[in-house]
Amino acid sequence: MSNCPKCDKPVYFAERKTSIGKDWHGCCLRCEKCNKTLNPGSHAEHEGKPYCNKPCYAALFGPGGFGRGGTESYVYTNNVKTKKV
Ligand SMILES: [Zn+2]
Ligand SMILES: [Zn+2]
Repeated sequence: MSNCPKCDKPVYFAERKTSIGKDWHGCCLRCEKCNKTLNPGSHAEHEGKPYCNKPCYAALFGPGGFGRGGTESYVYTNNVKTKKV
């Protein structure tokens, strides 16, 4: 059993949401910035942390936002991982 990356406690099957290759509690899979609940497989990731695609990820790391280049970022759409260039 894996631990939730957010709260570091074990994740049981009934409450598990799998996204960005990790198992989360349903209530822990939230945007790091605005705390909005996220749907597995349809949100963004930055350095292993989940963000909503809009507005947070776009505002923080999208074109024109700060933090471009350097660290690797990915966007998930329907569980398909796309690297941000
Ligand atoms: Zn948790
Ligand atoms: Zn957000």
